[in-house]
Amino acid sequence: MCRVLKCDKYRITQYYSNSHKAIDMVKYYSATCPIIAHTEGTIVFCQTGQKNNPKATGNASYGNCVKIKHPDGYYTLYAHMEKVYVKKGQYVSKGQEIGYMGNTGKSFGSHLHFEVRTQNDTRINPQPYLDADLPNMSTKYYQTYDNVKNKWLPKVRVGSSDYAGNKGNGQSGFKCDILTYRVHDKVKKYWLPWVTGSKDYAGNLPNDFDAIQFKENVTYRVYDNIKKKWLPWVTGSKDYAGNYGNSIGGVQIK
Ligand SMILES: [Zn+2]
Repeated sequence: MCRVLKCDKYRITQYYSNSHKAIDMVKYYSATCPIIAHTEGTIVFCQTGQKNNPKATGNASYGNCVKIKHPDGYYTLYAHMEKVYVKKGQYVSKGQEIGYMGNTGKSFGSHLHFEVRTQNDTRINPQPYLDADLPNMSTKYYQTYDNVKNKWLPKVRVGSSDYAGNKGNGQSGFKCDILTYRVHDKVKKYWLPWVTGSKDYAGNLPNDFDAIQFKENVTYRVYDNIKKKWLPWVTGSKDYAGNYGNSIGGVQIK
């Protein structure tokens, strides 16, 4: 899978070099494709209204362009887009569509110009990251099973400002990489066994859980579907997050 183009197969049309500190890429045999955020983050630069201009210099050469700042301080930049779907200051999640491939700015055919930059804004070779996390990103993910949609919801990265769940829908299963956790069965009214890692899950489908607890010193909170609000943050296993009897619509780990 490609982390920046919404397609199964892509082709690199220009590699990273000293004179081109980016990667140019297209969808395999097609130059039309939605562009997605490599990693969650905040839009720090957003340029729109640009047309194709082979003589453009400076930022105009990027055409319609989006730059995202990620939780590890790194940046990704997406240039020459036909359409931009986001605004400066907006928070986007991993895989969210941010625009559509195009030929704006100093460009000679529809493609994506993709850059990865360090905390100092230094451009590095993006190729190792086309299907991998940026440096220093936590690799722990968690997810919940939505009892209304009857499926596992998308994975969320520990430490991101996103959460697992779907406010209003009861969640009946939970799993998380590496960590040890358990949930309280709302129907049986007791704590289910501790589970470690994501090969198994905590829960008892289709019973909603109404509380969750972690053994490790992580900080977490849950969304109370009855009170319709996030309950206070809790750290470690001395306490738990939840409210017995009330289903949970979201779990968030700091
Ligand atoms: Zn390029």
